[in-house]
Amino acid sequence: MLKLARLSQQYKDDYVAARNAKFDEVEAEANFDVAATKLPWAQPFIDHLRANRDTLYGGTPSELETQIGIIEAHPDFQKFAAYCNPRPRGKAKNKKMEALCALVERLFNYGKLSKKAGPTGAYGLVKAHRQRICPYCQMHHVNYHMTDKSLKMRPPLDHFYPKSVYPYLAISLYNLIPSCEQCNSRIKLAKNPLLDRLAHPFNDTPALAFATSWKSLTITNRISSPADFSFSFDGVCPESKKMVKFFKLNKRYEWYNFELLDLVNRYNKFMDMAPSLMKSVDRVAYLTGFSEADAAKRAIGLFLLDVAKTIK
Ligand SMILES: [Zn+2]
Repeated sequence: MLKLARLSQQYKDDYVAARNAKFDEVEAEANFDVAATKLPWAQPFIDHLRANRDTLYGGTPSELETQIGIIEAHPDFQKFAAYCNPRPRGKAKNKKMEALCALVERLFNYGKLSKKAGPTGAYGLVKAHRQRICPYCQMHHVNYHMTDKSLKMRPPLDHFYPKSVYPYLAISLYNLIPSCEQCNSRIKLAKNPLLDRLAHPFNDTPALAFATSWKSLTITNRISSPADFSFSFDGVCPESKKMVKFFKLNKRYEWYNFELLDLVNRYNKFMDMAPSLMKSVDRVAYLTGFSEADAAKRAIGLFLLDVAKTIK
């Protein structure tokens, strides 16, 4: 997990203000009919969401988890939480609950936010983060472009707390993680990271760090193709170990064996240097091609950094 920097207080205030204005607008719509759900606790639930909306829209990860806890502990609201986890499909659907889900989804409407181009819409949010690399895998760039109509793109925003389970967190500022398509749509899906106690990229958790071990490699100068070596790695702390397992990083990183071969080739060149020249070269920076301080800003940078530090 790469650690992401939180946004400025000004950005958060603007984001929350925009969402609150939309909340008021939606709630005032003629067809926003809470009584139609026929659930006696539906209005108190909507009132609860309104009373806590500043936190639901702009809260830190731990504040969001506190909100989840409050709803799941409430004698009535916990029925909504249980219904959404997992939300039934087909004939198992409950009309009253579905009606309430629809209202909550209108108040916390990710579909609309995802298309918004303004500063507090999904595009503006990604731009504000200035994130280059997927924080979950550190393998892929998460390109953002908004130059003109011919080039408008942004990475997926992963719901760290799945919106299917927590629809009231569907547009929470710190529940929207710029990530790569593979991590968002192929690996994480609606899996609930709370069950695995995965580290949250916006929390004060240790950054992702790898410890690489060569499964078959003895003499580096005999390596001429990826077939000549294999490797595996693990996290160096419990949080990193969970990330490696959850996002299947070991298997996915095998794809980068050519980049690893490039590093081995640079290592062999380094070892061939005259001793006087070798002394003047920063070994790790020579092998990786970037300075250690920039490792988290380069695709697979932390992995290459560990290899560069430990290769012999
Ligand atoms: Zn990723």
